Amino acid sequence: MRKKRSDITEQELQARESMDDNCPLCGRTLAVPCTRHHLLPVSKGGKGTTTVLLHKICHDKIHRVFSEKELQKYYNTVERLREAEAMREFIHWVRKKDAGYYDVSLRQKRR
Ligand SMILES: [Zn+2]
Ligand SMILES: [Zn+2]
Repeated sequence: MRKKRSDITEQELQARESMDDNCPLCGRTLAVPCTRHHLLPVSKGGKGTTTVLLHKICHDKIHRVFSEKELQKYYNTVERLREAEAMREFIHWVRKKDAGYYDVSLRQKRR
């Protein structure tokens, strides 16, 4: 069997440029899909403020666990996000996954 490695999308290339880093949340190497998270939600006046690049799966998790209000009031640093019970469990779980792991079904769980 041959592995196909040639089909890289433009989005993937762009993401790779800023990918010398690890995910500040789970500590794994960043990989596609990854997205930017505003430590202060844009809807709460966070436009133009600090963003962190996270795995999409880590980013999604943050927004499933915390409301924008909670993010604004308390969980506005990576340290605090990591300390939350729900996130600690998640990090423990996701650390064993492949860096590019993203389960599409997670998005569809909410009905
Ligand atoms: Zn991550
Ligand atoms: Zn976010």
